[in-house]
Amino acid sequence: MPDLNPSPDWPGSADFSGRLRPALLNWFDAHARELPWRLVDGGGQRDPYRVWVSEILLQQTQVARGRVYFEHLTEQFPDVRALAAAPLEAVLKAWEGCGYYARARNLHKAAKIMAATGMPDTYAGWLALPGVGPYTAAAISSLAYGEARAVNDGNVRRVLSRLFAEVQPDERWVQARADALLDSQRPGDWNEALMDLGAMICTPRTPHCPACPLASSCAALKSGDPAAYPAAKKRSPVKVVQAVALLIGDAQTAYLEQRVGALLGGLYGLPTEIKEGQAGEGALDRLLTRLEAHSPRLLGSVSHSMTHRQITLEVYAAESALPGEAVGKRPLSRLDHKALALLGGQDRLL
Ligand code: SF4
Repeated sequence: MPDLNPSPDWPGSADFSGRLRPALLNWFDAHARELPWRLVDGGGQRDPYRVWVSEILLQQTQVARGRVYFEHLTEQFPDVRALAAAPLEAVLKAWEGCGYYARARNLHKAAKIMAATGMPDTYAGWLALPGVGPYTAAAISSLAYGEARAVNDGNVRRVLSRLFAEVQPDERWVQARADALLDSQRPGDWNEALMDLGAMICTPRTPHCPACPLASSCAALKSGDPAAYPAAKKRSPVKVVQAVALLIGDAQTAYLEQRVGALLGGLYGLPTEIKEGQAGEGALDRLLTRLEAHSPRLLGSVSHSMTHRQITLEVYAAESALPGEAVGKRPLSRLDHKALALLGGQDRLL
């Protein structure tokens, strides 16, 4: 484990970690969040399946919302075999509304691999599975198996940035500090303690420094303006997408198409055409021709943000001989639920 600076007063030195670890772990023992994936069995072990599902959810979903989906998914698919045996469509239906659907597709793919070859019990084994990157592999291997792997997520980045008063910490910088500070005796607890501190005390805009167990070692607090660390990251530009959708049927029974592609692949939705060119002309005509539909009537527009895109859908009702199906039985994106709600009576779906 690297000693990041020889001075005993500098964060990263052996003296510094020696003070920090008991302070944070004692705080964690008293204040850890109670979360359903943290339950342990009689031997004090966590179920790796539940840890894995929770970590995939938390990659892009806030804890409060992720908790609802976690309960739902683990109730419907209580173990990896049940998940592997389910059709992908059933997994997508359980994931409906959670967004970033590649996670659900990879969850299903990885479950099938594990059902055939067994569940890995090392960082490297988890890293080899679809949808599992270095953060997720470190979290699962430390939390479920006690492997000494430091996690590096947004909470950890913020806490370490402040502790060391580093304004613009990059990935390598954070990982090096996280590795150096990791408590190898309790790696899972240490990782969760840092994450809980970031979520509960060292919050983005108004850190609650008087309640922080690390206050006496915090360089950002000493600077007088802890919230200035880290500097805000530049956001990726949002791509604006305009499209036209056709509703043939009604809010309960409609003609649906299965989506393809990385964004919503596997989900179902109203037939859609992207508007191209400045005026976006022709999209409605193309849709009407393709579906042999007629008599379009504008119902309204809906918008939804997903994965750096702002999508606006102009929704038309139209007549066609194409058969409708029960929309409640298919996995749909929130954008499609919003479109169906234009006909009224569907607010519960949003
Ligand atoms: S003292 Fe304040 S800024 Fe420093 S780690 Fe604690 S909460 Fe964060």
